[in-house]
Amino acid sequence: MIEIKNLTKRYGSKTAVSDVSFCARENEILGFLGPNGAGKSTTMNILTGYLSSTEGSAIINGIDILEDPVRAKKLIGYLPEQPPLYLDMTVTEYLKFVYNLKKCKLPQRSHLNEICELVKITEVKNRVIKNLSKGYRQRVGLAQALVGNPPVLILDEPTVGLDPKQIIEIRSLIKKLGKNHTVILSSHILPEVQAVCDKIVIINRGRVVANDTAEKLVHNLSGDHKLVVRAEGNPAEIKKLLSSIPNMDEVRINKENVEPGVSEFFLNAKPGADIRREVSKRLASRSYPLLMMKSSELTLEEIFLKITTGDIHGNIKDDLGGEIMPERSERRKK
Ligand code: ADP
Ligand code: MG
Repeated sequence: MIEIKNLTKRYGSKTAVSDVSFCARENEILGFLGPNGAGKSTTMNILTGYLSSTEGSAIINGIDILEDPVRAKKLIGYLPEQPPLYLDMTVTEYLKFVYNLKKCKLPQRSHLNEICELVKITEVKNRVIKNLSKGYRQRVGLAQALVGNPPVLILDEPTVGLDPKQIIEIRSLIKKLGKNHTVILSSHILPEVQAVCDKIVIINRGRVVANDTAEKLVHNLSGDHKLVVRAEGNPAEIKKLLSSIPNMDEVRINKENVEPGVSEFFLNAKPGADIRREVSKRLASRSYPLLMMKSSELTLEEIFLKITTGDIHGNIKDDLGGEIMPERSERRKK
């Protein structure tokens, strides 16, 4: 269990992290999501004892990292943003070096072999690290974090710079590790945390702006009262029919003839009203085939964009902004 309480970090007059609190339970994968410069690495560096906080505390399995750093650090495997590799060593030499550094007591040979198997670097064990691809280096970084079998893993942007195949491999490895480790993983890529994490904490400009399960984040920020519906028949007639549903605020024809004879409608009911059954019943009563109905809940990507640009209702703080998901705009350009 990891508990971060009211963490603040100032570099001179610049506040990098401000009053950040969250916790991750045992064997939970927590995604720490935020744009570049949000304060993810700073928080992780404090959590792992590499930086001290200006205010607040970080507690790992009941041990305060500032009060007893030696014991707390033993519980943590850390993969920093830049993996601390010695490029002139072979993988085996390097892992033995880390083993000694951590004063690990597990049987060296079998322990290191097991880790190499797990992160799939056995076939490059005897190669010099500087000759390895970025993907392999990242896995060696992960292997280093796993030496000593610590119950807590802190991974700072573990998939940055990897190709899509490597990203999928690392993600599935993290999921596997999450079964018997508490994992905190940072990322500025939404689908990544969505794919891997049980819980998501969103940070922006040093402040936590959302903290929930991925599912609930989507649900709370939108709701079931907005639907996208496709039905076959005269669009104006269908619009009229649906408009008479109680609690309906607005029916809009999104697009006519999405397929021949089929139109798409956007339905906006009063918040809290669940109009799905009524939509289906009314269309059926007039024999308009209902071909699709989905809640127009925001994707996490949209939520993230909304939260980080401050364009959001509810209890989200409004002092937001920052550099939003560079990958996203790059992807759009392609
Ligand atoms: P992230 O990992 O989310 O990209 P960081 O934690 O690295 O963000 O940085 C948070 C903020 O703190 C940024 O604005 C960054 O420029 C600033 N910062 C980080 N390290 C230092 C430092 N050593 N001195 C001054 N400012 C820093
Ligand atoms: Mg960082």
